[in-house]
Amino acid sequence: MLSTSDIVAPDKRTPGVATIDPAIFPMLDKLYARRIKRLNAQADLLGENGAYFRFLTHLVQGQQRIAEQSPLGPDDVEAIRALLQQKPENTQLENLLSNITCWQAAYATLAKQVAPLLPQDVGDKLAVLSADKTQLTQAAAHLLRFDYQQVDAGVAVVLWAALSTCWAQAVSLLQEESMTQPTAQAVCCPCCHAPPVASLVLGGAREGFRYLQCSLCEVRWHRVRAVCVDCGASGQIEHWTLDDAKSALQIETCGDCKSYIKTFRLDYDPELEAVADDLGSLSLDAAIEAEGFKRIGLNPFAFPA
Ligand SMILES: [Zn+2]
Ligand SMILES: [Zn+2]
Repeated sequence: MLSTSDIVAPDKRTPGVATIDPAIFPMLDKLYARRIKRLNAQADLLGENGAYFRFLTHLVQGQQRIAEQSPLGPDDVEAIRALLQQKPENTQLENLLSNITCWQAAYATLAKQVAPLLPQDVGDKLAVLSADKTQLTQAAAHLLRFDYQQVDAGVAVVLWAALSTCWAQAVSLLQEESMTQPTAQAVCCPCCHAPPVASLVLGGAREGFRYLQCSLCEVRWHRVRAVCVDCGASGQIEHWTLDDAKSALQIETCGDCKSYIKTFRLDYDPELEAVADDLGSLSLDAAIEAEGFKRIGLNPFAFPA
């Protein structure tokens, strides 16, 4: 794996023995830098139609600055750890969220920074939430409970980015302590319960291992290949590509439960970044959804309508 990779090298405590890490925790500085680079590449490709990618570049730069300049304090980390122990359906979720101030501050900062880049009505909605802690907390709880339709789509992107910056810092500090469930069968993140963005097949020292990348806390967790992420069946798994079989961008479908997940072959192209490159390849999703398959992953920059 290249030194610019945002995927931390495997544990080499036992030389010569390939152990599979159940989870890989984010290196946020490198991850954000890679995401910005890939979002910019998509924006350039789209030219004057690339406005949304340019907006996202600013949003991720905002996340990067928050992680660098306002790192979480021990109290924030401890409060997020306590929240991660709870299931999303817990009725105390709003109370717990309300008492964690770092994500609220992150939201206010991001909302202020990106509002000038957005249509007036979206900017206004962002500002209204900044000023109303109760509404803001309720909106965050809806997102963490997968009730995306309850939150305005433009607001959801910024609010999720704020939560993500804080959750990702917390799990990267807590490492294994943030894991609340085993990874072997996990469809959702073993640390924060959020759905994956996509599936990654790694290169380098973890050549060929498959990990799912969390849409919220950026953790990657191991799942064996050739088995459906959702239902665990292996009889009708197929891989689809737009061009040749060596394409770094693939779709894995399961004929048993009719689900699919996008797969990035980092062993073929280590430059790919799950969130940015997923967003840049939504035409592939449309093609596979037309075949009757349902997407497993969530892209935090494109909430389902
Ligand atoms: Zn997570
Ligand atoms: Zn399945």
